[in-house]
Amino acid sequence: MHAEGPTFKLFNVLKSPVQVYAEVGEHILHLNALIGRSISLEYKGQAICKSCKRDFESLFRMGCCKKCFFESPLAGASILRPELSRAHLNIEDRDLDHEKSFQLQPHVVYLADAGQIKVGVTRLDQVHNRWMDQGAGRARIIAKTNNRHEAGLIEVELKSLYSDKTNWKQMLNNKSDGRELKEEAIHAKESVSNNLKRFFDLDGEQQEIHYDYNIAPANINSFSLKDSLKFKDDLFGLRGQYLIFSSGNAINLRSHEGLVLSWSY
Ligand SMILES: [Zn+2]
Repeated sequence: MHAEGPTFKLFNVLKSPVQVYAEVGEHILHLNALIGRSISLEYKGQAICKSCKRDFESLFRMGCCKKCFFESPLAGASILRPELSRAHLNIEDRDLDHEKSFQLQPHVVYLADAGQIKVGVTRLDQVHNRWMDQGAGRARIIAKTNNRHEAGLIEVELKSLYSDKTNWKQMLNNKSDGRELKEEAIHAKESVSNNLKRFFDLDGEQQEIHYDYNIAPANINSFSLKDSLKFKDDLFGLRGQYLIFSSGNAINLRSHEGLVLSWSY
């Protein structure tokens, strides 16, 4: 079978194990069903910017061309740094209507364990997707806020306790952090400024998440089709936005967002 199209974020469905779908052109590939089968992936030097939808040979960052990365609200300051949100003050970064609809809605601060505990911020209605995208083995909501800015302020204060990044190597090696998330929620609440404590929820939702990926192959290595252009191997497992192959090579599809890939399977 063959499919070709721009790369989107993998769509994860919270089941045990997580069910993973890739939208490729007109096809929706159910990747769990392809485990054990040979897959070939090829990047032929075409990409589509997710903001302006124009064709490029490659993209700059976050699925955007260079112009859109610096101008589009899809790559605005508060996407990567929630504390920079200004929509609650009626202040525009790039497109105030877009920023209001995105930033002025309930957000959560969570702790997720994908090898080591990290802190993160996301919209309340996105929280399970976010945890699965990051390949977290367990995660817990520790605070709920009215908007993105408030959640960002909490995250900034907690960066002295926890990383805000997922370590992909630990995640793909199925490592986990020994600490209890509820105890860490209490610890986090004690650590933040008094004006932020009211957002904490010490009984926030906690999830254990299982992936179609139980034993890591030896020598996990992350590769990009931007360098190798073509790759073929047996699909071994799925975790987060990664496809892991029998050889130990793993590809982060999120980092290929917008690149037109050709799939044979
Ligand atoms: Zn663009």
